[in-house]
Amino acid sequence: MYFRLSVKSVITRLLTILSVSVFFGWLIGQTLLVLCISVLVLLCWHYHHLLKLIKWLWSSKALSPPQSEGVWGKIYDGLYRQTRQHRQKQKQLNERIRKFRDGAEALPDAALVLSDELTILWGNKKAQRILGIRWPSDVGQRIENLIRFPEFYKYIDAGNFEQPCHIISPVNSEIQLELRLMAYGTDQVLFLARDVSKIKRLEDMRRDFVANVSHELKTPLTVVRGYVEMILTTEHALEPHWQKAFSTIETQVSRMDRLVEQLLILSRVENHADHEKKQLVDMPRLIHTLVDDATWLNQAKQHKITADLADDLWIEGIDTELKSACANLISNAIAYTPEHGRVNVSWQRSGNKARFSVKDNGPGIRPEHVNRITERFFRVDKSRSRDTGGSGLGLSIVKHVLLHHNAELAIESHWGEGSEFIIDFELLDKDLT
Ligand code: ADP
Repeated sequence: MYFRLSVKSVITRLLTILSVSVFFGWLIGQTLLVLCISVLVLLCWHYHHLLKLIKWLWSSKALSPPQSEGVWGKIYDGLYRQTRQHRQKQKQLNERIRKFRDGAEALPDAALVLSDELTILWGNKKAQRILGIRWPSDVGQRIENLIRFPEFYKYIDAGNFEQPCHIISPVNSEIQLELRLMAYGTDQVLFLARDVSKIKRLEDMRRDFVANVSHELKTPLTVVRGYVEMILTTEHALEPHWQKAFSTIETQVSRMDRLVEQLLILSRVENHADHEKKQLVDMPRLIHTLVDDATWLNQAKQHKITADLADDLWIEGIDTELKSACANLISNAIAYTPEHGRVNVSWQRSGNKARFSVKDNGPGIRPEHVNRITERFFRVDKSRSRDTGGSGLGLSIVKHVLLHHNAELAIESHWGEGSEFIIDFELLDKDLT
């Protein structure tokens, strides 16, 4: 339905009314009086409808406007149409909001919609349960005022939301939460909190189990190894088949011993037992000692081992962990590089970072294996790793150590040409350079 009121038709109507009034006035000999009365009636009629319209707009609860004929009827109809369209749109919008809320309520996670200034706009019931958000009294509050944990403040300040942040639930200390923030819409942020208590408990159990078993295996292995060494070094010569049997036992026990040792290091690094002991570490001296040890222990392979160390470049860290990481990379280069190969160890400043690198001209690593070699127990060539005494844990240890030191590992390797393992450490102002 479409109604158009043109100037022409308005003037025509007005002129018709005025002409009829003039004609009627002329008939009774009172032209001016009748004309004035007609204009007054017309004015009253318009004012009457204007008042009706104002009353309907401001005081009436009725959806439909007052009824009328003529031009005012058309105005009321138009207004009614617009109100109906508006209500329909609102209904659709409400339906969409309801669907979104139902979806958010069905989530197993606590969900909050925040403004770009991190004030709360909306939250689901789970958010009220595990984050202690009160609805609606907490609407408009900044999220940091309600989740008061130093690690959460740091997370917000850092502004890097690619990784989650872990906290304990503000309402129940037994619930461990994993928090994630992500941009949502044009200027909103979606905040998700997941209960990861079960996963954490399982992870802790696995870690404790590995640490305990490794610890318990250490003593029997040392005893067996001691006895085997004693038998092998006894003055009375053993019969050849016994000699061979005991040598094999010694080799295998040594391998197990190394594996258990690596597992213990990995558990210690994973548990982050030393996390309070961060201090300035004399890296040049630490690396120098490792290179000397490696050269001394691997004389048989006659590698050309060179070291290129910046003597005044110290960093803040945990020296036992840093030693473990560097030693693993150096021993890998030596283990996988054939006789007379070259190994270069370097410790230098690179921009605003301190770079440790171990480069060899060994067999290299195929591109498809490069991303996997830091996985626990991953070995490219199992039989070769067995020969080198490898356990597949060395690079996992390196990865965990780097996590504690805010450092990154890069591997550059060309199959058949050699590999370079690079670690970049952030240099802080207080690091001595
Ligand atoms: P492993 O104890 O077996 O050496 P790592 O975790 O230290 O375990 O290394 C994983 C795998 O990565 C090794 O099995 C080996 O195949 C490969 N790798 C590591 N370093 C080198 C290297 N310098 N050259 C070639 N391959 C390497």
